[in-house]
Amino acid sequence: MSLLRTYKTLPLELARGEDVRVWDTAGREYLDLYAGHAVCSTGHCHPHIVKAVQEQVGRLIFYSNVAAFPLREEAAALLLKHAPAFHAALFANSGAEANENALKMARRHTGRPDVVAMEGGFHGRTAGAISATGIEKYRKQSEPLVPGITFVPFGRIPPLTERTAAVILEPVQSMAGCRTAPPEYFRELRELCTRNGTVLIYDEVQTGIGRTGTMFFSGRHGVDADLVTLAKAIGSGIPLSAVLVSKAIADKVQYGEYGATFGAGPVAMAAMKATLEVVDGLLPNVVEVGRYLAKCSERVRGVREVRGLGFLLGLKLEAEAPAVQRALLERGVIVGTADEPGVIRLLPPLTLSHVHVDRFVRTLGEVLRDAPAAAEAR
Ligand code: PLP
Repeated sequence: MSLLRTYKTLPLELARGEDVRVWDTAGREYLDLYAGHAVCSTGHCHPHIVKAVQEQVGRLIFYSNVAAFPLREEAAALLLKHAPAFHAALFANSGAEANENALKMARRHTGRPDVVAMEGGFHGRTAGAISATGIEKYRKQSEPLVPGITFVPFGRIPPLTERTAAVILEPVQSMAGCRTAPPEYFRELRELCTRNGTVLIYDEVQTGIGRTGTMFFSGRHGVDADLVTLAKAIGSGIPLSAVLVSKAIADKVQYGEYGATFGAGPVAMAAMKATLEVVDGLLPNVVEVGRYLAKCSERVRGVREVRGLGFLLGLKLEAEAPAVQRALLERGVIVGTADEPGVIRLLPPLTLSHVHVDRFVRTLGEVLRDAPAAAEAR
């Protein structure tokens, strides 16, 4: 065994993918409602993405930010066109790195040390990101933690002080089982941060790039964050992350404060540009089929609750989630689990159609009919 044993894997060995389907090495087909953890939002091997990446690989695989190339500017401009409340973007490689940069920006911008984060939030595995993660088991593994971070329940307005640099939150808490909060919560939080001179950070590593039916969650309910972090779907699987930065913050950034060798590399930017072009046309599908998926899932016997938005849904079950996940896999459907026991997560490609939903709910119904109720969920 040459890979470090840190990932729990499904009994699934993949050979290839196309749109919402993947095939294993034995040639068996699966309906993918997990998308490699919310990454493959344009569907597997979308021809527009494949073409853009292949062309760029043949032209210039890499050059760092010391030299400009037109595609980098074009791709960044397209991202900002979708995010008119923001002034500039900083590119890096992973969600955790984007959050590290956002936390640093907030602290430097305000000159304050403290951060308020949410119980149940997940922000990545690097030192700062894990320290802001509101799930104790992950923080415990990573001690000693970065100081100055406190936690409040998601959905409750936190007390801020003159030391609070930032409030960071996932607008839909994915790992915690796809929980979100009412519009008034986001509006009140925005007002409070503005009044207190605190930077509001939305971690949109999962909600960003169309997953909830709008390109970003920021902008929803008339609320824009000051910093938005993006990763996962932004490059359709080519590693890339970004921080969208407000004008007030961008104006104060000095040369040399932020950087990453691979950030905004040519292949990643080609993938991002092509991804944005595809996702733009898929947003109505996310809204419509997302509603249909939620409605049909709610009606399945053994589903207690459906949470989340668009194609970021958590189904609270009466049965054990890992057992249901395995049983679905045996019937050719891939779903995720969550940190909350009893919840399966649906994070499909944004191309999912009504026909796929019908297949999923039919299969889920069969599985739940046979599944014993979980002790926890009863
Ligand atoms: N933020 C959120 C909301 C996430 O779901 C994740 C990963 O699952 C991260 C940050 C970390 O991203 P990465 O694994 O790319 O570092």
